[in-house]
Amino acid sequence: MRRIFPILSSLVISAFMLAAVTSAQDIVDRITALHGTTMGTTYMVKIFDASDLLRDNIAVDIDAELRAVNDQMSTYLKSSEVSRFNASDSTDWFGVSDETALVVDYAMEVSEKTNGAFDITVGPLVNLWSFGPEPRSRALPSETEISARLQQVGYQNIEVRRDPAAIRKSIPNLQIDLSAIAKGHGVDRIVELLRQRGAENVFVEIGGEVRVTGDKAGEPWMVGIQQPDSESNALLVRYPIADSAMATSGDYRNRFQVDGKYYSHTIDPRTGRPITHGLASVTVLAENCMQADAWATAIDVLGPEQGLAAAQANGLDVLLATRRGETFELSATGKLRSVKKASEVRSRTSEVNKTKAGKVSNLIPILVITLIAFAVVLAAMAVGVMFGRRPISGSCGGLAGTTNDDGTTRCALCSNPVDGCKELRERMSAGQKNE
Ligand code: ADP
Ligand code: MG
Repeated sequence: MRRIFPILSSLVISAFMLAAVTSAQDIVDRITALHGTTMGTTYMVKIFDASDLLRDNIAVDIDAELRAVNDQMSTYLKSSEVSRFNASDSTDWFGVSDETALVVDYAMEVSEKTNGAFDITVGPLVNLWSFGPEPRSRALPSETEISARLQQVGYQNIEVRRDPAAIRKSIPNLQIDLSAIAKGHGVDRIVELLRQRGAENVFVEIGGEVRVTGDKAGEPWMVGIQQPDSESNALLVRYPIADSAMATSGDYRNRFQVDGKYYSHTIDPRTGRPITHGLASVTVLAENCMQADAWATAIDVLGPEQGLAAAQANGLDVLLATRRGETFELSATGKLRSVKKASEVRSRTSEVNKTKAGKVSNLIPILVITLIAFAVVLAAMAVGVMFGRRPISGSCGGLAGTTNDDGTTRCALCSNPVDGCKELRERMSAGQKNE
């Protein structure tokens, strides 16, 4: 029994460690991941515990759904509903899909709530600043050009009808650009597609806009919030989300530089120019990704003060990173206040905000539990030895096994060997003689 105990405890500890590692690996193995490109960026879909039925053809169906979004809302595709609407100078109702009407309707709601900071009629200005499909060099536009394009802009010049789905412009040269909201809507469409196929635990991301449902065997899906300006994709923080969406807009994401000055693809429709305030990034947590995407852009246009006020007034969960010299000042509302606190603690302790660091920290609980298990087993063994007043197995060999002429042991630690030791030594020396 004495010998079995340490073996048994080692086995228990090994089994425990193996179980911890295997369960982490098991979660990874149970995820079906699909990647691709869409809307000028990449997408990623992860399904936890996808059934075989779901796995069959799902990649093809996801691509088809994303193509359908493009066919409706792309400004790069000449045949899309939006491109055809933009090319038309009719001020009559223009029939569109239910989805396009839904997206335009929500865009109008955000425009009204932000007094036009978010405005899908900003397209002509986006083109003028070389961020749209119109071919242009990155030369800065003139004052006259900006004023001319501003005449084409204004969400008040557009109307939307849900049934039958249609949109209408009140000025013939009005154009719409759904780039600030279509990716989020695309994410929602894929989540809906997967849900219809019976998937309960999914993670869908298009160009950084994310929505998740369920979890991974009790483990939440994690979303990384990127450190603005980071060349190495370093993360500000990793945040667990459940049954919700997260989108980020930032002035550092798509910009060009002229004479040392950056020009971002986020345009303030009130000035006709790219934003110039110090708000580097805006992250919004919402129930669906269309909302998160639209609000992230809207608050990005509004800037740190007005943006924070709009987030509070509309009960949004928002994290803002504002440039302060070489560093960023974080401000947050609602649930994302916890992210602000977490990243402040991280920066105080100078932790490296990288995904790898996150992975190592995931192992810390396993290591702590293993160490505790070791300590408990060692303590139990020590207590056993103390109360049993027995020599530790094996101490009858070595020095303790050699004797002086008078028969006493040469080992000072074993000066008073118990009967068991004497017996064993006699048996050992009898065995040696027999050889
Ligand atoms: P990202 O594509 O990096 O996620 P956004 O969601 O913020 O960024 O979308 C940026 C795009 O939105 C721009 O490229 C432009 O087409 C469009 N856009 C720019 N300014 C505005 C605005 N004020 N309101 C609505 N859409 C805008
Ligand atoms: Mg957006």
